[in-house]
Amino acid sequence: MGTSQFHRRDVSTKPHKTARSNTNQFSSSTSLTDSTASLKRTTTTLLQCDAMTSEQGFDVAVIGSGVFGAWTSYQLIRGGAKVVLVDAYGPGNSLASSGGESRIIRMGYGADLIYTQMAQRSLVQWKELLGSSGLFQPTGVLWLAREKDAYCEAIFETLTRSKVPCEKLNRDQLVRRYPQLEFGQVAWGILELGSGVLLARRAVQAVVERVQENGGTYLGEQVLPLEVMTNQEGLDQNPGAGFLNQGTPKLSLLETAAGRKIRADAFVFACGPWLPKLFPSLLADLIHVTRQEVFFFGTPAGDDWFGPDKLPAWIDFNDLIYGLPNLDNRGVKIAIDEHGPEFDPDSGERIVSSESAAAVRRFLSRRIPALANAPVVETRVCQYENTSNGDFLIDRHPAFENVWIAGGGSGHGFKHGPAVGEHVAALLAGKATVEPRFSLRTKDKVQQRKVY
Ligand SMILES: Cc1cc2nc3c(=O)[nH]c(=O)nc-3n(C[C@H](O)[C@H](O)[C@H](O)COP(=O)(O)OP(=O)(O)OC[C@H]3O[C@@H](n4cnc5c(N)ncnc54)[C@H](O)[C@@H]3O)c2cc1C
Repeated sequence: MGTSQFHRRDVSTKPHKTARSNTNQFSSSTSLTDSTASLKRTTTTLLQCDAMTSEQGFDVAVIGSGVFGAWTSYQLIRGGAKVVLVDAYGPGNSLASSGGESRIIRMGYGADLIYTQMAQRSLVQWKELLGSSGLFQPTGVLWLAREKDAYCEAIFETLTRSKVPCEKLNRDQLVRRYPQLEFGQVAWGILELGSGVLLARRAVQAVVERVQENGGTYLGEQVLPLEVMTNQEGLDQNPGAGFLNQGTPKLSLLETAAGRKIRADAFVFACGPWLPKLFPSLLADLIHVTRQEVFFFGTPAGDDWFGPDKLPAWIDFNDLIYGLPNLDNRGVKIAIDEHGPEFDPDSGERIVSSESAAAVRRFLSRRIPALANAPVVETRVCQYENTSNGDFLIDRHPAFENVWIAGGGSGHGFKHGPAVGEHVAALLAGKATVEPRFSLRTKDKVQQRKVY
């Protein structure tokens, strides 16, 4: 594979300056300067797109510009690769798991050092890329613990060992610091001081913008499922003419629904909840897509009690619920972390159920009494793409030497975009081996959630 021969590029690391995305594909209002830049970029993109059908092609084609695909592309480009990033609905689109307004970035993962370390590495890179754009909000993250709480005890120990700045708060301290919350059975807490919230869809768009600024090509097209293109379930049954390199288990090109052929030395499928549709025989039983509901509640007029300076993001995994302060004036966000029913990311209805609305309202009356009667100002239905236990899936396709899969975010993947991208780039360059916990062989058909 040509990827080990990438020449390291001079990649711009200047931080993202404004919260507004000026990537031509997704900004609707543009100034004259923006339009000129945008025209230039479109022309470049079209010229580069022509190269997709030529013999030259790309080092790597990344399919899916959610947080995993966007960061994988960026890290590959930093390593010198010529990359095309393809997405059917656009970066940070409303159907994608990365398409929400906000995602928590926390370091706490029980005793799971692997994710704590990935989150630490990722936070540094998010901050570097997003700069002063405001797309990372350092709200702090507060864990709400019960009297005997093995998971939170393990978090505190791991955070301390990993030198993550944090404070253990007793119940009196919690009550005094956060009068907005009613603590009920909460006995103590942990405050992660440097953690916070990423303004998700715009942060992903900022990464894709950076990919393009550094020579990457973005293409808005739908890639056809591999099994349709190659007309096979195993490599040696009727290989589709032209898609495979003769005599090797290597894919040579992809085809889009529009009929475009994309040639590359390697392919990374980072299609989140669509992975089971792209690889039905391989992944239909291994990635479970579930419907998840999110509510935003309006805060009282002229009141900043619920703003990010007064209230951190908080997590109560005993109740499988978490909340975010009033960011960007969208209201206080409350979301249920418990897995919902099976969901189709293309056609699933995105209106919240009245049962969930009632359950969240009951919870709110208990935990944040001042918002008990607050209006619901916005709702979202998104989806988790769960592996059996919540560990990511980052591995080579068993039938193709040069096809990789990066997904299985399982409701906690967003924060890890930079570290996942780094790992995939290292795998492609032959500088890393597959992490056993992320491997295909450790994925089970039966759901037994262990990672939160
Ligand atoms: C409600 C909710 C709350 C969450 N909260 C958090 C949190 O607080 N912190 C956290 O770290 N994580 C959180 N997560 C998890 C996190 O958002 C996901 O793990 C992460 O966004 C997954 O990213 P992805 O790139 O794998 O998938 P996606 O973001 O879904 O991206 C996949 C992309 O592939 C594209 N695609 C699909 N099929 C094709 C095709 N055939 N051709 C071309 N393109 C295609 C899609 O258009 C899409 O853009 C949450 C998730 C949800 C739903």
